Amino acid sequence: MIKKICVYCGSHPGTDPTYTQVAKETGRFLAKEGIGLVYGGGCRGLMGIVADAALAEGGSVIGVIPEALMNVEQGHKQLTRLEVVPNMHVRKEMMMQEADAFIALPGGIGTLEEIFEVFTWHQLGFLEKPFGLLNVNGYYDHLIQFLANTVDKGFLKQANLDYLQVDRDLETLVDRLKGYTRVPVTKW
Ligand code: AMP
Repeated sequence: MIKKICVYCGSHPGTDPTYTQVAKETGRFLAKEGIGLVYGGGCRGLMGIVADAALAEGGSVIGVIPEALMNVEQGHKQLTRLEVVPNMHVRKEMMMQEADAFIALPGGIGTLEEIFEVFTWHQLGFLEKPFGLLNVNGYYDHLIQFLANTVDKGFLKQANLDYLQVDRDLETLVDRLKGYTRVPVTKW
């Protein structure tokens, strides 16, 4: 049962206007579906856009932001709940605990780091929750290609890569996350 989804995404809007449009659609979709949003708690970039869209549609939004980033990332004051935490580790841990599933929209290295932590923890068996990439306009195509290369070169099992759901369509992606079942695959 997915009650809350954590959305990782850029603290910049990116160059393609579709990213903003999809971020808005994501916020609205989650609210309409009655799925709470968990995110990094800021107002900047796609992060703020997803949160504002969910709030405007009457959705529940939990933000988790480190104290030191309250100014830089402009901690959002209108959220259902804003957790101001001491550091990045607590932020990521809280986001992982709060959410039942994880989606990365387009973003930079912060977004990649966050979704990859979920991915790697899942591989190690520390986390048993579904996760995926919303591949807006093929933004993640090169990354997906690279991950196929890590399988080809013997550093990642295809069965572990298969847990990373990838889709260009949000609704399809969320449906696939809902269908998650974990058959334990060892890393080694
Ligand atoms: P970016 O995708 O680089 O725009 O960053 C998106 C979000 O990820 C921002 O809220 C950053 O604060 C956050 N972020 C950046 N680095 C990390 C990290 N090492 N762990 C967790 N979150 C991070």
